[in-house]
Amino acid sequence: MPIVRLAELIDQPEAAGFLRSVVAGGRYGNAYLLHGPAGVGKGTAALAFARALLCERTPGGRRADATGDLFAAAAPAPADPPLDDACGECAACRKTADLQHADLRFLFPVSGEEQKLDTTIAETLQALRDDPLFVFAYEKAASIRISVTRELLRELAFQPYEAPRRVVVVRDADRMREDQYSAMLKSLEEPGAATVWVLTTARLSRLPATIRSRCQRVRFAPLTEAAVARFLADRADVDAGEAALLAALASGSLARALALRDQDVGAVRNQALALLEPARAGDPARLWTSAQAYMQYGRTGREALRRMIEFHMLWLRDLLRAQAGAPAEWLVHRDQEDRIRREAREATPREVRRRLMVLEEALQSIEGNVSPDLTIFSAMARVSTLGARLGENQWPAHATASWDH
Ligand SMILES: [Zn+2]
Repeated sequence: MPIVRLAELIDQPEAAGFLRSVVAGGRYGNAYLLHGPAGVGKGTAALAFARALLCERTPGGRRADATGDLFAAAAPAPADPPLDDACGECAACRKTADLQHADLRFLFPVSGEEQKLDTTIAETLQALRDDPLFVFAYEKAASIRISVTRELLRELAFQPYEAPRRVVVVRDADRMREDQYSAMLKSLEEPGAATVWVLTTARLSRLPATIRSRCQRVRFAPLTEAAVARFLADRADVDAGEAALLAALASGSLARALALRDQDVGAVRNQALALLEPARAGDPARLWTSAQAYMQYGRTGREALRRMIEFHMLWLRDLLRAQAGAPAEWLVHRDQEDRIRREAREATPREVRRRLMVLEEALQSIEGNVSPDLTIFSAMARVSTLGARLGENQWPAHATASWDH
């Protein structure tokens, strides 16, 4: 079932609490903007909110003209005290569960050849219906399709089909063109409109200020590691040890954790640590060989490279935890406890923090416009005990030079 209830959202008490209070109040604004980091449940929440808005038992969910309506007898009476979430049982809830409600429109970015987009959209919707753990993934160029917004805007001129209002959910609303925004703006500004817009974005600043200012904003926070790990273990069938590792790597994004789940993270972790071993030991010759091995990752993609560095950072954080006397269950790499304890004894917390800072800088350089090769070689040299001996300021300037592609 793709659309859950607001009560089922994980680890977003403030956002979910606000949305539920809106549902219980039964009066809706023209537009809501759910914003926050990628992969923390904004899209799920947007659809759950839409579902609650359309539910026949929530305060705003019944048509005012229902009395005397042909279907009035079949419509369930509103709940007392007022429901703040979809009931999950009424006719509307059954339809919204499968994205089949005539008054629910769901827009999301797509990419590819224009003539294949209908199929792509249909396939994505079907995948979402079939897989409760479905994760939206877009290419860089993906955008909300123009013909879809055109069709939608024509439809907005008419009354909703079944519900008192129509709900339009736009996922990643920052991926639209200027003329799409202006068309949408007209609807957002219309007083007493029969349409509620629910937009999501992980890139708030990319939305035009005119759109932002007309929406009620709902902020979503990064998920806690514990919540991600619990979700993976309880609902994605991941064993507890791996769930902890994935959650630590996912930086508060469940979508990222789910994407990583399909890779053998244990193997990638070991590879990352093996590559950095000579750096740790301060062996210049092996360091160069190792750096070359890393450079392959630089060519195949920054994402792989980033992950390698992140693994190493997690390892260093475990050393700090061990140095502070943390029990095994607090360690991300608890399956490597002996090695962590040994390395923790061999370095001072200050030295471990220094290495973490070097890697943090390397991560930032990779995000920026710096050659991954240079970044990595420089970072590896500085992470090594060699770096500690030479001192941070003695590394050549090219080590942080930017690179024009
Ligand atoms: Zn319902």
